[in-house]
Amino acid sequence: MNQTQIDELRAQSVPAFQHLIDGKHVPASDGQVMDIISPIDGQVLTTTAKGTKTDMDAAIASARAAFEDGRWAGQPPAARKKVMLKWADLIEANALELAVLGVRDNGTEIGMALKAEPGSAAATIRYYAEALDKVYGEVAPTSSDVLGMIHKEPVGVVGAIIPWNFPMMIGAWKLGPALAMGNSVVLKPAETASLSLMRMCDLALEAGLPSGVLNAVTGEGAVVGETLGLSMDVDVLVFTGSGGTGRRLMEYAARSNMKRVYLELGGKSPNIIFADAPNLDEAAKVAAGGIFRNAGQVCVAGSRLLVEASIHDEFVAAVAKAAEGMRVGDPLKVDTHIGAVNSEIQLNANLGFVETAKSEGGHVVTGGERILKETGGYYMAPTIVTGVDQNATLAQKEVFGPVLGVTPFTSDAEAIQIANSTVYGLAGGVWTSNLSRAHRMIRGVRTGVMHVNTYGGPDVTVPLGGVGQSGNGADKSLHAIDKYVNLKTAWIKL
Ligand code: NAD
Repeated sequence: MNQTQIDELRAQSVPAFQHLIDGKHVPASDGQVMDIISPIDGQVLTTTAKGTKTDMDAAIASARAAFEDGRWAGQPPAARKKVMLKWADLIEANALELAVLGVRDNGTEIGMALKAEPGSAAATIRYYAEALDKVYGEVAPTSSDVLGMIHKEPVGVVGAIIPWNFPMMIGAWKLGPALAMGNSVVLKPAETASLSLMRMCDLALEAGLPSGVLNAVTGEGAVVGETLGLSMDVDVLVFTGSGGTGRRLMEYAARSNMKRVYLELGGKSPNIIFADAPNLDEAAKVAAGGIFRNAGQVCVAGSRLLVEASIHDEFVAAVAKAAEGMRVGDPLKVDTHIGAVNSEIQLNANLGFVETAKSEGGHVVTGGERILKETGGYYMAPTIVTGVDQNATLAQKEVFGPVLGVTPFTSDAEAIQIANSTVYGLAGGVWTSNLSRAHRMIRGVRTGVMHVNTYGGPDVTVPLGGVGQSGNGADKSLHAIDKYVNLKTAWIKL
């Protein structure tokens, strides 16, 4: 990563973005656009088309037509694989340009953005490209006078609604398996982070994906997202975002064609530190990184720190020291550790959570305020609040910002009880040298992912999905493929 190259890319003006429908860039049907504000400085970066219901209907019709005529699903797996591998190569070849564009749009620090966005998007697309010709049907163990076969068929049109924190990576988690299995897709990126994902869609066409197989419509969730959710012609909805929107998507499905809905929602993930952790200094640094990178806008962020009471004060001091050593600022500087909060609305929501925490008896050890206001950007100091009761707002509600709440515990059973005391169940961590205790915690804490003596970093080979109100149906790994296929039984009399 070279600062000069980054500076050259950031100096370039960003063109206005339009929808991608049936292989063409098109404006909104009524010509309206939305300003895209860069969280780096609060200035208008460019505009995107402000989609209408008509636009979304056109995108869905395009995806449907592409699916029905078999221009993609009907291609031999080897041909689909070739296109997707080329797409992954193109993402990699354009990685820095994509990452800088994405950072100007959503504020993630460039080091993390480069790795997590084009880096993992390319790896994900490649993973599903490699997998697509290894997905077999099954032959059932029937009696000898019949043959029971189970085919795996593409579902048809997939609607994919994406959040703003890691648009390319999360986009790839949906697009990879959906396209690999032969489906057509209509993508709805987030209002405040669409540019790099839209550019990534262009690269798919450049790699040879036929027109109409992948369509993308920008605009407001309440307009184009709702149209997608209510469509009678969308077979599956896949979503990452907030619980409130997830609930709406289930309603849309119930009110329309009862399409399948898979939700990746928020979390309030507990990172549990025992006094017998192998290296408490390392644990403190990783715990700080696990909540503060990308300004806490990470679905699996370890936002609840559960610390064994005997080491509470010294451990909190170590995490505070690590937090204070993290440079917050211009996300396009290579030495920045924490970039900008995605939007002013999000920043104000974060600050509101800190005020509530204080009013509920929490003590702010470090941070707690907006910083670098003179830049016009949306920056917040990494914040640690101690004395957070397990029932306090900060322990129960997802902040999605750089705010860590600390709660002490005195036994394994109490740690598990506190860890399981929210409606969420996305991720968690445990730090201990005791192997049996580690396994007990893995079993006892109800989450989709548990880290042991680390936090963050699982790659595409393992599933990421929540339990409880963190969602259903995991992204990543071969298991994700199941969301994008229908099982069809053929029962044949011999
Ligand atoms: P959000 O729900 O506000 O928006 C997500 C997407 O939904 C956006 O594209 C938005 O336009 C769209 N949307 C909004 N209203 C809609 C509606 N009425 N109908 C259809 N679509 C609509 O969430 P966000 O604020 O962008 O993302 C942050 C949330 O995402 C956090 O809660 C975070 O934990 C969660 N998240 C979860 C994971 C995971 O893997 N579980 C990963 C990243 C983020």
